[in-house]
Amino acid sequence: MRKAPHTYSVSPSIGWGWREAVIAIDLGGTIIKIGLLKSGELFDRKEIPAQSAAGLKAQLPEMQLAIDQILQANQVQPEAVLGIGFSFAGLVDSSQNRILSTNQKYDDGPETDLVAWAKTNWNCPLFAENDARMALLGEWQHGAGMGCENLVMVTMGTGIGSAVLIEGKLLKGKHFQAGNLGGHFVIDHHGTACTCGNIGCVEAEASTWRLPSLLKEHPEFNSSAMKNEPVLDFKALFHHAENGNKVANDVLEHCLSAWAAGIITMIHAFDPEMIILSGGIMKSSSIILPYLQERVNQHAWTPWGKVILVEAKFPDSAALYGADYLVKSSILKNTP
Ligand SMILES: [Zn+2]
Repeated sequence: MRKAPHTYSVSPSIGWGWREAVIAIDLGGTIIKIGLLKSGELFDRKEIPAQSAAGLKAQLPEMQLAIDQILQANQVQPEAVLGIGFSFAGLVDSSQNRILSTNQKYDDGPETDLVAWAKTNWNCPLFAENDARMALLGEWQHGAGMGCENLVMVTMGTGIGSAVLIEGKLLKGKHFQAGNLGGHFVIDHHGTACTCGNIGCVEAEASTWRLPSLLKEHPEFNSSAMKNEPVLDFKALFHHAENGNKVANDVLEHCLSAWAAGIITMIHAFDPEMIILSGGIMKSSSIILPYLQERVNQHAWTPWGKVILVEAKFPDSAALYGADYLVKSSILKNTP
């Protein structure tokens, strides 16, 4: 690939230089985020609703339209686009930039040729990566993990995702799944059946998808105020726990204990200096973080010191920053 002449500008009045723009896509289950980045800054962003059950191919025309709109609105010419970074909630082969495996979202992902889609529409390369890895890259470069080369990212939401950076390099493994399956570490081998086929995974014991059944299994649920909640989510759980509701407090204790077990296992597996916690459940970080830090301090085998647990700095946009970094570092790596 030719190197960009730094002084040349396609549109001097707007300031978009040759190959200066990066498009970032973060494909969530209910929302697709699209970012336009310049010099590592999130210049503009757009969100469109997602229908993950309808598949990935069905989403491509709307994504294409949204990207064209964001480029047009910011007067970015096609020549100014360096590449697209694509963040996906599943296992991703980041050497071929294709989706390997999904779990109940965008299940036609492995048959979708994203590289050809980007080439056809914007004549630019596309680099795909797992969403937790992308968020980790963003937090490492710009957020809570700056200056730290050994990190674990844990995303706590519908499921539990993870990604690992060791000595400044993303851990990937032979089949691109190393570090991504922290939510599927077994913490109770007599436990609950998980959507992944395993038993007693962290997310099968404590996650948004598991929470309603956890509450209903409590012997006092039917006489508890939680029974009247229209939606049994963590927002409701934390609210009732703060008000002293016994069912909510018992289930919260169970969840905190499950997450602590998962995080301590990740510490033992990956030897990080820092764990970054993100995801919807972390909206109640003031309760979660001190508890988990104390459990880690008590139970993790780290004779060198204590692993620091921190909240993500950009819970909403880290994957977009990560996509920008991935595009630039991938092109740089391939440029002689
Ligand atoms: Zn599992």
